Amino acid sequence: MLYKTITKQNFRHMIEGLMEDNAVFGPKWRDRDKDGNKVYRFLRLNDFDELQMDYTRTYSSPKNFFLPFEETLATYELGEDEWHQEIQYTVHPRVIVGMRACDINALRKLDQVMVKSTFPNPYYFARRRNTVIIGLDHEPLDDCFCRSVGADVVYKGFDLFLTDLGEKYFVAIGSDTGYRIVDSFGGEDVSDADQDAYKTVKKQIESKFKTQLDVAIVPELMDLEFESEVWERWGAKCLSCGSCAMVCPTCYCYGVREDVDLSFQQASKERFLYSCNLVDFAMVAGDHNFRPEPHIRLKYRYYHQFRGFVEAFDQSLCVGCNRCGVACLAGISPKAVIDDLNETELQ
Ligand code: SF4
Ligand code: SF4
Repeated sequence: MLYKTITKQNFRHMIEGLMEDNAVFGPKWRDRDKDGNKVYRFLRLNDFDELQMDYTRTYSSPKNFFLPFEETLATYELGEDEWHQEIQYTVHPRVIVGMRACDINALRKLDQVMVKSTFPNPYYFARRRNTVIIGLDHEPLDDCFCRSVGADVVYKGFDLFLTDLGEKYFVAIGSDTGYRIVDSFGGEDVSDADQDAYKTVKKQIESKFKTQLDVAIVPELMDLEFESEVWERWGAKCLSCGSCAMVCPTCYCYGVREDVDLSFQQASKERFLYSCNLVDFAMVAGDHNFRPEPHIRLKYRYYHQFRGFVEAFDQSLCVGCNRCGVACLAGISPKAVIDDLNETELQ
């Protein structure tokens, strides 16, 4: 990995320069929640000053730049004896500034499924390939548990990754594109003092994690406690609203719908993000529902995050951002559920 530094003034020039030829997105303050806390979203920047580099957490994750809530997979023109299909996955170059390590790690997990699997997803791949990612370190929030699942630091999956040293950023370079960008906007070689400052900041960040999640034996626990009352206890609270999956940076369950024009001359195939917590997720023809009860659906989501993905890729799918815990009106969070499972095992 190569490292440079860039002054805050040159960083400004860099973002303004990128905005000339690309759509640039970053965290913007949009609202306040019921407790008065600022609510941020990744949105297109029209001006550098809109960029909130001191943001805390976006309510929804940047996953949706790669897996939109809804997208057209193909459109069709239907004729008398023939039909024509058009598939479009061109993505214009764009830049996302300010992604956290956990969100970049989330993308790397999605890459395993969407890019490196037997059936890659060309729509996702086109977006991933045409998006420059400039990540940003931050001090953990009280409820972040990314450190417990190894997602608090990131070494791949970005073009540039910044750590704030006060007057300047320490910049990890993750791609040729990233190198060219930082080099053209005044990137400087790292001095001994920069290295010391960087190590100090990283140690400070490390020392500020408050929430820990004991995931050491969770994959086994998921099997051992398959019939545990823990699932019924939390399932009884679940509203089956699907908000947890919508805000999660790694949930990728989806549905496909075909819309046919009433004239039977045009049609389209749409994909939309879905959630395994929704009532009809496992509904099949004949109205049979393989997971009719909330606790079974809730268990399934946790199994995918902490058991199924581990079996397939030797890592949990969850990156510990706790967005699902914040979004859940029923007070269900991975910390609460996993702690309960761990405690049940000890009884
Ligand atoms: S766990 Fe919470 S957010 Fe998820 S479906 Fe249930 S009630 Fe909704
Ligand atoms: S904490 Fe919740 S929202 Fe965040 S990655 Fe884990 S399951 Fe998804």
